[in-house]
Amino acid sequence: MSEEKEILQSNYLNFLNEKKLMGSKCKKCGHVDLPPRKICSKCLSSDTGWIDLTNLSGKLSTFSCVYVGTKRFLDRGFDQKNPYAFGVVTLENGAAITGLLQGVDPKKPETIKIGMNLKLKFVEVQTPAGLQVDVGFEPA
Ligand SMILES: [Zn+2]
Repeated sequence: MSEEKEILQSNYLNFLNEKKLMGSKCKKCGHVDLPPRKICSKCLSSDTGWIDLTNLSGKLSTFSCVYVGTKRFLDRGFDQKNPYAFGVVTLENGAAITGLLQGVDPKKPETIKIGMNLKLKFVEVQTPAGLQVDVGFEPA
């Protein structure tokens, strides 16, 4: 075996904590899965490897402004008076991922535009288990 890390959720999260957004790329058909998968979601080949997506730009595909969030977001200070925007972002290579939208006003959803250009901006979150890095985006 090579020294390459196995495609596992835990390794994906470890990469995130190093502020690297890593997906998997199928060596047979070229499809990129994000979050990464051991088995290609398009052709079911198990011949996949890591691909670094950290420096790709993206476009907003859809979003929601959340006034009643999950406990994870409530613990971070978001609530009905302090909503957050969460979106699906499609990267320039076609892979899509969800993330917190930063630098936008969740109280004015009409100012957030589908198709707007975004770039990665990792979010550092203090948790009982320590500092964690989440996927986030901001206007490019
Ligand atoms: Zn494939």
